[in-house]
Amino acid sequence: MNIHEFQAKEILQAYGIPIPEFKVVSDFKDVMNAVQALGVQAAVVKVQVHAGGRGKAGGVKIGKTPKEIETLAKAMIGMKLVTKQTGKAGIVCHKVMISKLLDIAREYYVGIVIDRKEATPILMVSPEGGTEIEELAENSPEKILKVPFGLDGTISVKKCHEIAHFLGFTGKQKEMCEEIIRNLCKAFVENDMDLLEINPLIEDKEGTLWALDAKIAVDDNALFRHPNIALMYDPSQETPEEAIAHDMDLAYIALEGNIGCMVNGAGLAMATMDLIKHHGGMPANFLDVGGGASREKVSKSFALILADKNVKAILINIFGGIMRCDILAEGIVAAAGELDIEVPLIVRLEGTNVEKGKEVLRKSGLKIISADNLTEAAEKAVKAALGKEGSYGHFSK
Ligand code: GDP
Ligand code: MG
Repeated sequence: MNIHEFQAKEILQAYGIPIPEFKVVSDFKDVMNAVQALGVQAAVVKVQVHAGGRGKAGGVKIGKTPKEIETLAKAMIGMKLVTKQTGKAGIVCHKVMISKLLDIAREYYVGIVIDRKEATPILMVSPEGGTEIEELAENSPEKILKVPFGLDGTISVKKCHEIAHFLGFTGKQKEMCEEIIRNLCKAFVENDMDLLEINPLIEDKEGTLWALDAKIAVDDNALFRHPNIALMYDPSQETPEEAIAHDMDLAYIALEGNIGCMVNGAGLAMATMDLIKHHGGMPANFLDVGGGASREKVSKSFALILADKNVKAILINIFGGIMRCDILAEGIVAAAGELDIEVPLIVRLEGTNVEKGKEVLRKSGLKIISADNLTEAAEKAVKAALGKEGSYGHFSK
């Protein structure tokens, strides 16, 4: 789950990370109070959306007077920001951050992600902050230092020295840098983060270090351990489909292709997507309806897939275990009753109550292309999405 910059900064502040003082407003009428509380004349005004690249897209601006800050905030609240990370549709900004303006001498990059191959959290630092890390990795990988650290959130003194040295810090700055690194590692692990990025970490004209930006994503599966973070969920930053999926507790990720997939189990969903690609097609989404999905959940999942206008065929691939095939079939029929299904439906059912499930589908009169195994299902779906529908038929007994 992604959270806003101001929320990330609140979390990091509690770990002693130096953050320039800020206020958050969602109504421009509150701007003057915020400016007064900060005791500043000039400030940085920053759009709060779940996406980076705001600076380049006009979402980070400097106001030189309280009046200017107010004007900027007024323009930003309610604006739809399109950045490199939002997709064409953009994301609407409902809150802005007003942050104390700092004099930047240098910008650095610090990020932490999970290295899944090595099964360890890994720190990435670079003296070239401000630019996107992907660009940097591509053009000057030698400017990035990667340092794995402990699953318990600790990092050795030697590694901290190495990092500070790589970034060019000595003396007091070296100490500051090492303290920040230690605390970031701790915050990352203690909060079950997937991503923690400070870009830029800056040095001001006095040589003090500050986290000017902060981006955090927390592992969805660990949110139950962090109720305070779970509360930070902001549906306004998600696509309508993602918001529904969140409400229904469905694992749904929209993709670029045209074959909608409804599958139970993440592993089977991945295998289904692989097979679709193997046969020359492109999945429109990843959707795991989960183990014991109810009729309603199946129905909602189906509606989600149909809401995607790119979908030219739907492949339902269910291996019933805890999930019963008849429940699934009833969910599909219920959804079909409410929604117009104009695309071919390819169904492969196997497992618990499979005969009952097939019976429900047969009786429904829905036009269905049946498949007896996964490969056949994928092949038929790819053909159907190309407009070569194949033969509609009934399930063989
Ligand atoms: P992003 O574009 O979404 O990553 O947003 P950032 O918070 O990283 O801001 C973008 C850029 O705005 C930074 O890289 C800085 O160059 C600039 N910026 C942000 N805050 C300040 C500030 O307090 N003072 C100055 N001078 N520049 C700032
Ligand atoms: Mg940034």
